[in-house]
Amino acid sequence: MSLNQSVLICDQVNPKLNEILEKNGLQITYEPEITPDQIAEKIGNYQVVVVRSRTKITKDLIQRADKCKIIARVGVGLDNIDQEAAKEKNIRVINAVEGAMNAVAELVVGLMLSLAREIPRADREVRNGNWIKKELMGTELRGKYLGIIGLGNIGKRLGRLAKSFNMNIIGFDVMPIDEEFSKEVGLMKADLGTLLASADYVSLHVPLLDSTKHMINAEKISTMKNTARIINTSRGGVIDEDALYDALKNGNLGGAALDVFEIEPATSNNLRELPNFISTPHMGAQTKEAQSLAANVIAEKIIQILRGVI
Ligand code: NAD
Repeated sequence: MSLNQSVLICDQVNPKLNEILEKNGLQITYEPEITPDQIAEKIGNYQVVVVRSRTKITKDLIQRADKCKIIARVGVGLDNIDQEAAKEKNIRVINAVEGAMNAVAELVVGLMLSLAREIPRADREVRNGNWIKKELMGTELRGKYLGIIGLGNIGKRLGRLAKSFNMNIIGFDVMPIDEEFSKEVGLMKADLGTLLASADYVSLHVPLLDSTKHMINAEKISTMKNTARIINTSRGGVIDEDALYDALKNGNLGGAALDVFEIEPATSNNLRELPNFISTPHMGAQTKEAQSLAANVIAEKIIQILRGVI
């Protein structure tokens, strides 16, 4: 049965999403550069609104979305959608947690290796004609302690990947941790204090909430080894960037790699001037596989909701 409903796609998405929706009879308006004012004008005409990260679906927009049944985020975090306002208007908000899981976890491994072996610096120096082999005495991941904060989808995938590097995995979560996963990787469950004090690498995989805002601050950093390295691919704001800057500058922390920042794009962030800091431009889920998987998952969820299956 053809679903005779209209979908407004507000950001650039994998073409598979449009294909699947169209096959099911949905009418697509694809406007990946649409502005908030243009959305405000049109949103009242659509049953489904699709976004990635660029578009913010605010309370004001939701109040105008009189026909809307679903707001879909082709990604994980829902911080760009006012979920309370959507709930009040009986609009389902859906996301695709499965898409990014492996992509983000693999990026963390890449960032850990980049910190351990100074790969970005090595590349820069060779490009500049400098053969600084003797300065590049690195360390290995094997045998090091990796503290994972937040053992949801991405944290667990990282644990499994890190196990294959023979790292020792320490985990902290506010919710009970999956027992099968714990057994598989030989997880050492710990409280946050023990994890921070013991880890050589700390990787953050929590959502940004009031309770996680600046959960890594000056006081917490002061309990970490001064050789420890911290990686954040979750959300900017989970780490206090001023405290991180001071610790890296003063030798109280070994290194840091951030994919996410309090203010993005972080092209003028002062962390960039530090030699023991590396960064990527919020590209955790930016793989062909992740985008394709997320598009499939979202398309299927939209169709099933409109057909009343879920
Ligand atoms: P998830 O919901 O599966 O897991 C999050 C885990 O954090 C849960 O187990 C939860 O219990 C735990 N948690 C919540 N508050 C906590 C606290 N105070 N202390 C310890 N644990 C806490 O989420 P996920 O799919 O694994 O995503 C993790 C993070 O990665 C999210 O912030 C998401 O937005 C972000 N993310 C980033 C990118 C990127 O491009 N860099 C891509 C996808 C997801």
